[in-house]
Amino acid sequence: MSDVRQRQEQLQALLASCDIKTRAVRAGQLSGTEQEHNDPIYATSSYIYGSAEEAAGRFGGKTQGNIYSRFTNPTVTTFEQRMASLEGAERGVAASSGMAALTSIFLGHLKQGDHIVSSNSIFGSIIGLFDNVLAKFGITTTYVCPTDHQAWQAAIQPNTRILFAESPSNPLAEIADIGFLSKLAHGTNALLVIDNCFCTPVIQNPLALGADIVMHSATKYIDGQGRCVGGIALGSDELMEPVFGFLRTAGTTMSPFNAWVFINGLETLQLRMRAHCESAMQVAAWLQDQPQIERVYYSGLSSHPQHELASRQQTMFGGVVSFNVNGDQNAAWRVVDNTQLMSITGNFGDAKSTITHPATTTHGKMTPEARAAAGIGDNLLRVSVGLEAVEDIIADLQRALIAV
Ligand SMILES: *Cc1c(COP(=O)(O)O)cnc(C)c1O
Repeated sequence: MSDVRQRQEQLQALLASCDIKTRAVRAGQLSGTEQEHNDPIYATSSYIYGSAEEAAGRFGGKTQGNIYSRFTNPTVTTFEQRMASLEGAERGVAASSGMAALTSIFLGHLKQGDHIVSSNSIFGSIIGLFDNVLAKFGITTTYVCPTDHQAWQAAIQPNTRILFAESPSNPLAEIADIGFLSKLAHGTNALLVIDNCFCTPVIQNPLALGADIVMHSATKYIDGQGRCVGGIALGSDELMEPVFGFLRTAGTTMSPFNAWVFINGLETLQLRMRAHCESAMQVAAWLQDQPQIERVYYSGLSSHPQHELASRQQTMFGGVVSFNVNGDQNAAWRVVDNTQLMSITGNFGDAKSTITHPATTTHGKMTPEARAAAGIGDNLLRVSVGLEAVEDIIADLQRALIAV
């Protein structure tokens, strides 16, 4: 073994005792063969063998290694290993998007006749997955308010196999009590799946709080610069095996280029999240004092109904701030249109600040009744606080609020 390989192996062993900041930069095999300092992109669909016997061994599962990039690819593996280290998971399974990761989790683990209990305050496309896709295969879903413990309990059926929540929720920053949901799930032979997009592993580790599977849309903070779409599921080897089994057959695979972007994104995740969170806190506190604002949703504010729970589950409060302006949809749209710095888009988690009107964009496909039940009003706006100077972000909002 070369000295470089040996040092790499030593380093990976050392990382077990290192801080998350160090693991975000270093965890995961360095897959290169030319002693590159940065990870190469393995742009290859397949792999070659030295003999018929070696090929047979690989395909037959006798020897470990890559066969075909729909199954595994070294660049993707490095991303999976680094994320697993950050979330404290045995294994990560990367997917072509956050939705592909979720589809792989649900179709990998559920069968006809199974039942899901889900928070009603989740990413819009996930409601589409439950109601339009899984429902066709006889998998039903009951929605509950994420903070109503009695509602969660009452929704459990003998065939409930997965409890699902996002915390903090999008866009209202409701906090699901992960410890409570984990006990409820495990008392009823179900798995707890947590969508950790808004926090990232830097702020919250759902597995350590009792969740069985954690998922991310890497499209958001993990990339951090709005370049690529990707996702990942993480958990024990045992729970990831059916997820991987679905993914390698269905082809919901992450591309090596995207994995490479995410690996590099992770190296600055810690620094970026700190900056996003510090600025978001200032923006939330400022918004709270403005006469044009009806209500601010940010779990870092002591006025947030679950500030105490958020402080226990999370180390910081995230980079997304939502608020109701005084008035109707027109007033909210005028605020959007009068910003000059922020980008008008549905995405979040970017270095660039973004502003979104959820009721007509990200949550536009929900029925008005479902939207009302989830508390997504026509006068609600969501700001993803970027890495620009916070003074400039606040000045932009100030300019925009004059339009209310
Ligand atoms: C974006 C998002 C998803 C879906 O991820 P994609 O990468 O867009 O498929 C899931 N959950 C949350 C909370 C998201 O914000």
